Amino acid sequence: MDSDYEIVDAYDGDSAEDYFSGGDTDMDEGDSIGGFEEDEDDGDNAGYEYGYASDEGSEKTYTVLRESDIRQRQEESISHVSSVLSISRVAASVLLCHYKWNVSQLHDEWFADEERVRRSVGLLSKSVILFPNDSEMTCGICFDSYPRDQIHSAACGHPYCTTCWKGYITTAINDGPGCLLLRCPDPACCAAVGQDMILKLASDEDREKYSRYFVRSYIVDKKKVDFLYYIELLNFFLRFNLL
Ligand SMILES: [Zn+2]
Ligand SMILES: [Zn+2]
Repeated sequence: MDSDYEIVDAYDGDSAEDYFSGGDTDMDEGDSIGGFEEDEDDGDNAGYEYGYASDEGSEKTYTVLRESDIRQRQEESISHVSSVLSISRVAASVLLCHYKWNVSQLHDEWFADEERVRRSVGLLSKSVILFPNDSEMTCGICFDSYPRDQIHSAACGHPYCTTCWKGYITTAINDGPGCLLLRCPDPACCAAVGQDMILKLASDEDREKYSRYFVRSYIVDKKKVDFLYYIELLNFFLRFNLL
């Protein structure tokens, strides 16, 4: 990308849009603004700038974050959660996506009832299926047999071949940001599919889309977007063929 885009949005706190499921939008806040601005003069820092505004009295104050700032904040949150909850970084990412990067709410709910949180986000403590020691295994989607090293599974243990996983992950990523909350292909299984598996099996193009959704989830979830911002978000995705 040759130029940067500045995304400046204003939030009013109570207008809501669910980034992951595309729920109803709320147009009743007429004073909000949203926009992308090309910033041709600022080509030294590749990426995007994301801003949000908050009302303080009658004035709005804007915070502009570059993509690199957001990635850094995400990394810090992931490290923090991983260390405090004694879980892997992949598991911490799953939790943070579900909790919309609200670390304190995540801590509160985790320490109040860890099992309930694990169940709701699909972080299983142990496999529901044990992998046999056979050298070949049958894929649960195409039902062909494959050498053990071509079979993968989420924490649940449901076995699927590399080709079927790739198809499943590609479809999810191209369906939108819901891929950040991806679950095992078994319809009856709620196990979360970790970022490590997605990044390992996705194509370069899909990996790029996934990581953009991941970055966007931070700013979108930090503050609920308003309708105008939602339109700009759509434009952004259309511009980069993310829809
Ligand atoms: Zn298969
Ligand atoms: Zn499963």
